[in-house]
Amino acid sequence: MKESKKIPKLRAKDDLLQSPKGMRDLIGNDFYLFQGFFEKAAEVALYYGFQPIETPILEKEELFNRSVGEGTDIVSKEMYTLKTKGGDRLALRPEFTPPIMRAYFEHGMQSWPQPVMFYSFGPVFRHDNPQKGRYRQFYQFNLEILGTQKSIADATIIMIVYTILKEVGLKDISVQVNSIGDGECRGIYKRELTNYYKKHLKDVCADCRERLKINPLRVLDCKNPICQPIKDLAPESIASLCPACKLHFREVLEYLESMNIPYEINSNLVRGIDYYTRTAFEIVLTPDPRTNPEEQVVPLALAGGGRYDGLAKILSGKKELSAVGAGIGVDRVLLQENYTKLSPRIIKKPKVFFIQLSLDAKQKSFEVIEALRKSRIPLAHSLSKDSLSIQLALAEKQEVPFVIILGQKEALENTVIIRNMDNRSQDTVKIDKLAEYLKKNI
Ligand code: AMP
Repeated sequence: MKESKKIPKLRAKDDLLQSPKGMRDLIGNDFYLFQGFFEKAAEVALYYGFQPIETPILEKEELFNRSVGEGTDIVSKEMYTLKTKGGDRLALRPEFTPPIMRAYFEHGMQSWPQPVMFYSFGPVFRHDNPQKGRYRQFYQFNLEILGTQKSIADATIIMIVYTILKEVGLKDISVQVNSIGDGECRGIYKRELTNYYKKHLKDVCADCRERLKINPLRVLDCKNPICQPIKDLAPESIASLCPACKLHFREVLEYLESMNIPYEINSNLVRGIDYYTRTAFEIVLTPDPRTNPEEQVVPLALAGGGRYDGLAKILSGKKELSAVGAGIGVDRVLLQENYTKLSPRIIKKPKVFFIQLSLDAKQKSFEVIEALRKSRIPLAHSLSKDSLSIQLALAEKQEVPFVIILGQKEALENTVIIRNMDNRSQDTVKIDKLAEYLKKNI
């Protein structure tokens, strides 16, 4: 007997008309707010010598499994994966760094002058529990310096992220920084931390007991209050640093001091991702001193990053590459009270409202719009309205200084009427002289 196919349950119609949970449309001003931020951040990055890169939003799933690490929340719980019709397994990027490193090797950038410095921005996907400032599709502005071990690269990344956040108006922000050492001293630290936690297994949450088996550093990310006293007395990674890592960390801090960037060493900052080495940092809002410390919620990080000298080897098995990078959580930055609303260059307030009357005029209207576009004069118009009074009312609403009127008579004569909305004076001008007229009078 033929097996009957299970028919998927029909969704309620109104459910289909809603975006997926944790994902949203960016319309009008919201869209412009994001674009304004991206433009500002890109400008800062360009002046510091970074170049743009855009990688695909989908990558091979294995790229993230290997790099971000199987034991991390990002890979085990949060990644959006899919199987293509051809049988490939792909993932929506949960972060930018592995794709950029993939691109570095794919395009033979080892032969370019080092280091190679990239900025990029766009959507990132993590299947997390949505709340204020936490989405499943969110936006990052990302910076990477690939091909150098030098501590000045770490300091440069921190400084640029800090500068971008300051440039967009954020006030009370501080840099939290830590060093988790390299492949060797990090191993020593992991063992110490594990031994310490093993002595307190009964006093920590079930998640921490699990983390200890898979990725012990993650116990320091735990927000469960019952683990707090154990976490507070846990050994610190900087105490286990080898001399080279210690020197690197000291140099990073000295650079920050010389650039007057306020920082705090946060020994709990280990970041959950396997490939980090040495510097780990986050930029957070400084807690308000007026709030009672007991009531203070852990601030959501606005940006985070670090050095990942271990990633190339994890990905390729043999290649060595030192690199450092960071991601700014743009959605969270835009939510901040002090954020200065930046308009992207592309939005221009309309200077004229273009009124078209009659079919002949509608047909001629593209000539007028083209003339204005070529002269870079932004306009507003209504494609669907025919009445003069309705269109004039729309023009009044938009507070434009000029209205261009194209009726049947004007269409036949290749002219338009230009009305000055301040003094209500009118001129009739040939369409081919329109741009010239407006440039002189606007
Ligand atoms: P990460 O790649 O985890 O270091 O994240 C870099 C920055 O992205 C964080 O500091 C946050 O500002 C932001 N971020 C991370 N996860 C989310 C999320 N689910 N929703 C919104 N922003 C996020």
